[in-house]
Amino acid sequence: MTALLSAVQSDAQLSSLPRAVISNALRAVVDNLRDQLRKNEPLASGALTVAAILALAAAQIAAQRARRLTRVINATGVILHTGLGRSVLSEAAVQRLTQVASGYCSLEIDLATGERGQRGRYAEALLCQLTGAESAMIVNNNAAATMLALRGLAAGKEVIVSRGQLIEIGGSYRLPDVMSAGGSILKEVGTTNKTHLSDYEEAISDRTAMIMHVHTSNYRVVGFAESPGIAELTQLAHDNNLIMFDDLGSGALLDDEMWAREHEPTVAASLKAGADFVSFSGDKLLGGPQAGILLGNKATIDRLRRDPMARALRVDKLTLAALEATLEIYLSPDRPKAEIPTLAALSESLESVTLRAERLAKVLSDAAPSESFTVERLESFAGGGSLPARPIPTAVVRWQPSSAHRAETIVSRMRTGNPAVLARIKDAAVLFDARSLAGHELELLRDAFCAALAC
Ligand SMILES: *Cc1c(COP(=O)(O)O)cnc(C)c1O
Repeated sequence: MTALLSAVQSDAQLSSLPRAVISNALRAVVDNLRDQLRKNEPLASGALTVAAILALAAAQIAAQRARRLTRVINATGVILHTGLGRSVLSEAAVQRLTQVASGYCSLEIDLATGERGQRGRYAEALLCQLTGAESAMIVNNNAAATMLALRGLAAGKEVIVSRGQLIEIGGSYRLPDVMSAGGSILKEVGTTNKTHLSDYEEAISDRTAMIMHVHTSNYRVVGFAESPGIAELTQLAHDNNLIMFDDLGSGALLDDEMWAREHEPTVAASLKAGADFVSFSGDKLLGGPQAGILLGNKATIDRLRRDPMARALRVDKLTLAALEATLEIYLSPDRPKAEIPTLAALSESLESVTLRAERLAKVLSDAAPSESFTVERLESFAGGGSLPARPIPTAVVRWQPSSAHRAETIVSRMRTGNPAVLARIKDAAVLFDARSLAGHELELLRDAFCAALAC
């Protein structure tokens, strides 16, 4: 080990790294070699030289560093890509985030009085103003919101849910499991495609606490399908002294015909139909940071606020800073689609996306004149478990490489480059979807492409 460590001193690349990083990597490499020797596994010739061991350690450190969070250029066309962090924050949100993060902030001090204040009060007031809700509460994500609600309002009691709404979302969120983790008992009613109001009615007993409606965010039951709406369910719930909960999932806040076209319920509409409370994510169709938002009548939200679990699920100042700035944009109806990247990407016209694709094709052919790039119209999806039914028309730049193998190689190089670029492969061609690309990313994408191609 000492010999290795002293050899590191003369290695330009390794010697600049923290000592702990180097010795960890060296130890792992040496342990691994020892293991191979013990098992009599054949070693490559020269595997035991200092140079070979240093090279393995350097590769290991590089592989580890590649797992850092890093900027990604999203050319997949999927706008709310859960793997890529869902919503991109608006300029205003990023600025507020930076301001609040770089010093102390008024998180729990009411500056007007100098007294202790309530965390999140401003964002909650904005949410009420924007949706007509009486009261609001913000937690870590919508999974947390749902769990808190079930635990706080229906522990040990039955919650009635239609079989058509027993959703699973990526990342191990399955409604039946969330329900049992929240300590309540799932009472399934109806069938996958049809649930009638009478199915709910017949399931009500003295063990029932709540009727839960779940937005089928990432799928639609279409065709011979039917289920009662929020107004009908609320009526039934209230006639029986039950709580009505609508898990909206995506949380479309903007009052816009875009959602009507998608049959995407808005938050305000659900509250207006009578739900005692609703929940949704901050980073799906709202276009803000990861958060879970609960809105509803004051009595219900206050009960949840007092739950000891609420403390464990509360959001931090960075989330609140970004959320406040995002919600402020919604105060002026003409701003969201212009300033919130998620809404801008979803609502951008095909003509405008096509112009960007054409610009990208030109930038790429200027850099690699011997390659072939064409602009094509295709379809992309909102993603993130939002708006699954309607593909969004989009424009892509298709690069036709000489072989399928070459397409794979270049896409993999671009994915591991800096900045990383994610693209799709279809029929041995590489597709760069302009809908999820920002205008200022085109040159970065070109540079990444050239680096991968060595052009
Ligand atoms: C996305 C979603 C969730 C989970 O929300 P997170 O914010 O990702 O925790 C829960 N319910 C529905 C209906 C959803 O669409």
